[in-house]
Amino acid sequence: MSAGPFALVDASNFYVSCERVFRPSLNGIPVVVLSSNDGCAIARSNEAKALGIKMGAPWFEIKHFAESAGLVALSANFTLYGDMSDRMMSLAAGLGPAQEIYSIDESFIGLDGVRGDLTDRARKVRNRILVWTGIPCGIGIGPTKTLAKLANYISKTAERKPGSYPAELAQVCNLGTLSKEDLDALLAATAVGEVWGVGRRIAEQLEEGGIRTVLELARLDPATVRRRWSVVLERTVRELQGMSCVQMEDVPAPKKEIAYTRSFGRLVTDLEPLLEAVSEYASRAAEKLRKQGSVAGNVLVFAHTSPYRPGPKYHRSVVVPLRRPSADTAAIVHAATAGIQQIYQPGFDLIKAGVMLLDLAPDHRMQGELDLEDDGAAVAERGRLMKVMDGLNNRYGKGTVHVASSGFDDAHRAWRMRQERRTPHYTTNILDIPIARA
Ligand SMILES: [Mg+2]
Repeated sequence: MSAGPFALVDASNFYVSCERVFRPSLNGIPVVVLSSNDGCAIARSNEAKALGIKMGAPWFEIKHFAESAGLVALSANFTLYGDMSDRMMSLAAGLGPAQEIYSIDESFIGLDGVRGDLTDRARKVRNRILVWTGIPCGIGIGPTKTLAKLANYISKTAERKPGSYPAELAQVCNLGTLSKEDLDALLAATAVGEVWGVGRRIAEQLEEGGIRTVLELARLDPATVRRRWSVVLERTVRELQGMSCVQMEDVPAPKKEIAYTRSFGRLVTDLEPLLEAVSEYASRAAEKLRKQGSVAGNVLVFAHTSPYRPGPKYHRSVVVPLRRPSADTAAIVHAATAGIQQIYQPGFDLIKAGVMLLDLAPDHRMQGELDLEDDGAAVAERGRLMKVMDGLNNRYGKGTVHVASSGFDDAHRAWRMRQERRTPHYTTNILDIPIARA
């Protein structure tokens, strides 16, 4: 178990920052990244935030800024973001001995036992991430994870809104080096809703009770907080008081279920394109399954119409058990397509389908727990085939080798996601690597 202090390294406007690395012309102008199917804004540059564009704003509502303010909208390029995240995380790990990856662009670093000036060390790591990957980060340091998260918020706000906090706290904010008075002044200048784990509803309740700032929350009696609210909020208060209650989770637990669900680019009514889509989703889910070294026992498949459109409604799902737990694409695609055929009904305009792999367990197959009725050699052979398939798809891009049932003719694959504004896979596809010209 690692004690404090802790750091939180968090990229600024991560998806937009990834895009800017490869298209410097996007610097200094308002940029948003749109969700799957180009529906709504899931990342905003500071300039887009300044236009008043909210997180989750639908594209059709903010489209007019393209004309009036030069807003650029891009389709989400998750292949790029995932790869940039790996690079950033491996550099952030250099800050201390323990790392917990908290989201695609955030990781906690346990600093227990790190000697020397932590602020200086954090500045060096931040600079290395910026120079080596092009991604700007904020780093917050504090005696507890909750305070590190708060320090991170201050580091980014101090940079984005000059005057909001002392300028020297921009980019790297170490609460551990401040005097009691300076720390209290910061907490008093920060709204209670910015605290990690204090959601909108609790923030409203606190504000009604006269608790508006972080300092006011930190000064509450933990026992009272427990009685009036919850053990969770009590823990938050203790953490704000400097007592570490939330430990590092060094090893992320393998996912208990794996889902691959997508909205269609266009409404789907016929069985054939539905089978293709479900085959592809099942293949992708199987890839994820193998990546975490698990096998699945059951495959859930579903499809539904849009809840918002007029017309007949349809929402059905079915769980298809596998004959034995497996991570084999063919077995999983077979189960998923059998399932969708079972629940398919003609005459509905379907908007979305998905495949969920349930009942996951570690893959012990290779250690000899073979099904008696199976030919061991054949199973090992299938395992090798899956490895080769994953290897090819990793190297040459997703879907290079795929099951025939997910379709061949791209023009006919109308169910595919709409991503008209996606940038190239700069870092993961040899054909997309940018060429530098002198
Ligand atoms: Mg971030």
